[in-house]
Parts: sequence; C-alpha cells; structure tokens
Amino acid sequence: MKCKNCKSERIASVLANCEDTFQLEYLNQYYDGYVPEGIGLGDNEEGPEFKYCLNCGTIQGEFPIDEATILKAWEDNDEDEDEDHDPDDYEDNDEER
Ligand SMILES: [Zn+2]
Repeated sequence: MKCKNCKSERIASVLANCEDTFQLEYLNQYYDGYVPEGIGLGDNEEGPEFKYCLNCGTIQGEFPIDEATILKAWEDNDEDEDEDHDPDDYEDNDEER
C-alpha cells in the first residue's frame, strides 16, 4: 500500500492493546472506554488500530471525520460513563510519555 499523501510505501500498522482503557481528548471533552467507531482508529475491540506513513507522518484512512460522528462517539459512551472525569488524569498521562 502507498501513502495517500506522499505515495511512499513506508507504511507502518499499529494495534495498541488497551481494550476499554482507551482515552481521547477533543476540544476539552474527555472520553474513556472502548475505541469508538468512525473516528479513524479502526473498530477493533483490542484497541486503536491504524496505519501511518513513516515518511510524512500521515495517518491513512478516511478523513475528514465529521463532527456528528465524533459527537455520536461521546453519546454512546454516556451509558457507562465514569462519574469523576478528572482532566488532571490526562495531563499526568502526558507527562509519563
Ligand atoms: Zn506519506
């Protein structure tokens, strides 16, 4: 497969095994749970799955992702929402990387 941006064939595939501990921040909204479908990270229950180009950094897939799809991911997550979403948790995670 070739990169849709630069046509390089240096494409790496990622599957991160995190199951329901996936976290996402977007516009100061915080998501916890399984990877939501339709946001460009695959539909694998094991965790986020995507391909990216080692030449230009472009994540391969269907973009842009419309706002309604992202909002739907948040709505679906409301069912088993954690009461205490603490934005500080996410900042701590960033520091560990
Ligand atoms: Zn590329």
